[in-house]
Amino acid sequence: MSEQQDAATIIRNNLRAVRDRILAACDRAGRCASTVQLVAVTKYAEWEWVEALAVQHSVFGENRPQQLAERAAQLPKVEWHLIGQLQRNKVRLALAHATVIHSIDSLRLLRKIATVASETGRRPNVLLEVNIAGEESKSGFSPAELTAAWSDIVAVQQDVNITGLMGMAPASPDTEVARSVFRRLAELRDQLAGTELTLPELSMGMSGDFEAAVEEGSTMVRIGSRLFEGLT
Ligand SMILES: *Cc1c(COP(=O)(O)O)cnc(C)c1O
Repeated sequence: MSEQQDAATIIRNNLRAVRDRILAACDRAGRCASTVQLVAVTKYAEWEWVEALAVQHSVFGENRPQQLAERAAQLPKVEWHLIGQLQRNKVRLALAHATVIHSIDSLRLLRKIATVASETGRRPNVLLEVNIAGEESKSGFSPAELTAAWSDIVAVQQDVNITGLMGMAPASPDTEVARSVFRRLAELRDQLAGTELTLPELSMGMSGDFEAAVEEGSTMVRIGSRLFEGLT
């Protein structure tokens, strides 16, 4: 077997294992598996691995707009999600290539997106990133900021589809820490939903904590390292 086949086999097995775990978590939570989308995060993946994964899967996430744009040009049939921080000067690039932007971390960025969207006539799907645990190292609205800015946020919905919230749990070996963060994010969504926006999406859960996230209502898990485990 060539090295290429080896990588493809490893990726296929990893993908199957991740999907099985998502299914099992859905079962435990009494949820339908079709309500959870797997966003395969390829930011650290070599191009050959991305191509191998694209045979089996069609929703990918990248951190940087530039790499997303380059890879989207190579694999246009894949649905590309931007999950990392977005500078305002990269909004045009991001909107041209990303189907969903998970990481809107300020009103200023949201307004910039609305401006570019109205100019180009593209109505992007975006999620508002919330820094639930108040971590210094993470960006995002605090829950209080989000609530305070809500009427200004809702005001851009003519140009932008605001479909939900995104959050990350602090890195911790204790999944109960992650679970409580996910629960708080889901509660915040429930509070805000129905006022002006329905907010169906909850983007939460990564390689180390996606099962708890699914049990707490995640509709988009962003998984990278688990899919490429065993490759070097
Ligand atoms: C890298 C990254 C992920 C995936 O992390 P893994 O632990 O590799 O699954 C998910 N979300 C964001 C925002 C990321 O930057």
